[in-house]
Amino acid sequence: MNVLSTRDDALCMPALRAVLEGIAPDGGLFVPADFPSLDRECLLRDSRAGYPETAARILGHFFDVERSVLRSLTAEAYAGFDSPDVVPLKKLDGGVRVMELFHGPTLAFKDLALQILPRLLCLGLEAFERGEDALVLTATSGDTGKAALEGFRDVPRTSALVFYPVSGVAEMQRLQMVTQRGGNVGVCAVRGNFDDAQTGVKRLFTDRDFIAGVRRAGKFLSSANSINIGRLVPQIAYYCDAYAKLVADGTIAYGDGVNFVVPTGNFGNILAAHYARRMGLPARRLICASNSNNVLTDFFNRGEYDARREFRKTMSPSMDILVSSNLERLLYEICDRDGAVVRGWMAALAEEGRYDIPAAAREKLADEFYADFCDDAETGEAIRGVWEKYGYLVDPHTAVAVRVYGKYRQRSGDKTPAVIASTASPYKFTADVWRSLTGEAVDDAFEAAGRLADFTATAIPASIAELKNLPVLHDAIAEKDNLRDAAGRFLGR
Ligand SMILES: *Cc1c(COP(=O)(O)O)cnc(C)c1O
Repeated sequence: MNVLSTRDDALCMPALRAVLEGIAPDGGLFVPADFPSLDRECLLRDSRAGYPETAARILGHFFDVERSVLRSLTAEAYAGFDSPDVVPLKKLDGGVRVMELFHGPTLAFKDLALQILPRLLCLGLEAFERGEDALVLTATSGDTGKAALEGFRDVPRTSALVFYPVSGVAEMQRLQMVTQRGGNVGVCAVRGNFDDAQTGVKRLFTDRDFIAGVRRAGKFLSSANSINIGRLVPQIAYYCDAYAKLVADGTIAYGDGVNFVVPTGNFGNILAAHYARRMGLPARRLICASNSNNVLTDFFNRGEYDARREFRKTMSPSMDILVSSNLERLLYEICDRDGAVVRGWMAALAEEGRYDIPAAAREKLADEFYADFCDDAETGEAIRGVWEKYGYLVDPHTAVAVRVYGKYRQRSGDKTPAVIASTASPYKFTADVWRSLTGEAVDDAFEAAGRLADFTATAIPASIAELKNLPVLHDAIAEKDNLRDAAGRFLGR
């Protein structure tokens, strides 16, 4: 299938080639030229076919690659997950389920896509006979970084460099990154917040001197951020998989609607749910849950995107974002795929920090999306509340979704069965989870992990426990307006 740029539909190429490019040359994001219809098998899965089969079918709708190749690709990508289901669906209450997206090697939902992306990229390098190797640059608010490092580790013809905000990530997230092994990966801290890191990386992509250096080294730049179409597509699979499971266990009949609740930052995960809907998944309402950085809540409720506000550090750091890049893909649809309109909104955002969408567009969105937010105090209450009521432990990001879903139920009375996306293991955020459960402040993340394990009789994941004894391999730090030196050193090593 072909994809085209949100800012100019004449910029068109096969989806597999767009995986190599990352962002479109005009600064837009690649979107499918049209939405394929889901195989019925993706929603009505027979019980013998597992998650990798659904994932291969979804990939096959977008990428011109033989099904057998995609089958072995997804089987390999998900072989390392610590659950045979890959994405287990747990019952919380009545028709409410939790979709556990954190069973991959780095314990966050990013693994579902970032175990696939490097493999797609290698297929792309072959298919388009690109002689150069890929240099992947990525800014992270915490989880993308580690998942990208793990996904690209020692993958031939690729290297990956990750930038993270120096005090914007949780201790376990930081340790996961700075202890990363692999001959082709690097990590650099940035003095600033996530938006600073993301802006800095975007600048590298247009820095002529830097790009010339990259070329001289026989490489080209690519991105593992969620703007890459190769990250978006694999995420469609778990929404279909969850639906198939609800049909299989009799919670719903085939064709019935389901609500999905998604803790949201860069708008990538929930956009995949929207794409699944466009392809035929009977998703009723998509509930967009934000933390105190509630730009998206205001966008859906008021029709105004306004990034001119204070950046708030919260205990759900992977959602501490004021510029949600993937929203551009939704904007493209609400203006009926008019690149000129999207260009206008994006120019206003860059120049004035804000833009409005027409009232009619906002009303249409209100039928498909519901958006709300909660602050850290409510997030903590949700962690404790879910534990006390169901004996189930959630991480702070998932807790935001739980809380916002509670608000939605109360306001709407909508009893449609719902699936809450659980995006990370609570063991990535032990200090905050422990404090939320007990009121006790324990600064040391490992001490908190031990207490959490005893208190809840759950096991500390091995990849967390081992962090304590792994050597720190990456200690570079860059000023936010100069990522180029650090990137240059990585290139030259
Ligand atoms: C990345 C992330 C999110 C936000 O996902 P987006 O696709 O950026 O909206 C939520 N929770 C966790 C744990 C994450 O790592």
